[in-house]
Amino acid sequence: MFNYESRIENAKKAIKEADYILIGAGAGLSTAAGLEYSGDKFKNNFGDFINKYHFTDLYTATFYDFQTQEEKWAFWARLINLNRYNKEPLKLYSEIFNLIKDKDYFVLTTNVDAQFEIAGFNKGNIFATQGDYGMLQCSKACHNKLYSNKELVVKWLKDTKDCKVPSDEVMYCPVCNEEMDVNLRKDAYFIEDDYWYNQSDKYSEFLDKIKGKKVALIEIGVGFNTPGIIRFPFEQLVKENENYSLIRINKEHPESWNDLGEKLIAFNEDTNKIIEDLRN
Ligand SMILES: [Zn+2]
Repeated sequence: MFNYESRIENAKKAIKEADYILIGAGAGLSTAAGLEYSGDKFKNNFGDFINKYHFTDLYTATFYDFQTQEEKWAFWARLINLNRYNKEPLKLYSEIFNLIKDKDYFVLTTNVDAQFEIAGFNKGNIFATQGDYGMLQCSKACHNKLYSNKELVVKWLKDTKDCKVPSDEVMYCPVCNEEMDVNLRKDAYFIEDDYWYNQSDKYSEFLDKIKGKKVALIEIGVGFNTPGIIRFPFEQLVKENENYSLIRINKEHPESWNDLGEKLIAFNEDTNKIIEDLRN
C-alpha cells in the first residue's frame, strides 16, 4: 500500500471526479460509529439481563432462545431502542453523508440499524438486504408483510419488569397467531416484502445507470460473514469497469482477491480518521 497521505489524496480525487457514488457497508461501520455490542455500553444497559442470562456480549445474546415471549420482547425492545431508534445521528454516519451528499449516490448495506437513514441519507436510495430492527414479521413467514415496532418498543421499555414485558403487550401474528420475530435474515423464514423487492430493483437500476460512467465505490467495514452481498460483487464491478475505483476501508481485510491495481485504494486505519481526512 502507498503511504497514508497519498492514499487519502487518491481517494479524495476518486470521489471528487466521480459522477456516481456507490456505498457498501457492513457491521464494521456501525462498530466504528459507536454501536457497541460489548464493553461498557453493553454492561451499563443490560446489567439485569447479564445477571439473569449470563450474556457476555450483545451479539451472542441475539441468538438466545428465550423461553417466553415476555422475556424475548423485553430484551429486544431494549436492544432495538438503543441501536435503531437513537434520535441523534451517529457522527461517523453524518460525516459520510456530508462527504457524498452532493453526489448521485446509492447505499447497499447488510446493517439492520437504519443508521444511514437517521443520518440523512435518502431512504429511497438505500437497500438494506438483511432486514431492519424496526420491523416485525410472522416467525413462520405465513404472510408477506412487515409491521413497524416503533410504538410497541416504547410501550415495552416503559412496562418491562424483571426482564419481562406484560403478557397482554406481546404481539402475535395477526394472520396465523404464531409468535412474531424481528425482521432479520437469520433463518429460512426471513420475509422480503414488497418494499425489499422495490429497493432491490432500484439497486439494479442504479447499477445499469452507472455503467460506463466514472464511479467511486466506497466500501466500509464489510468482512467475510456474507462477502457475496457486497465485497465480492464490488470487486467484480471495479474489475469489469474501467472508470470505477474501490475505496475499501477495513481494519482486518483491506486487501482484494482480485488484482485491481491502482483502482483499489485500501485503508486499514481508523475509519473515523479516514472519513475526517477525506472531508478536509
Ligand atoms: Zn403468521
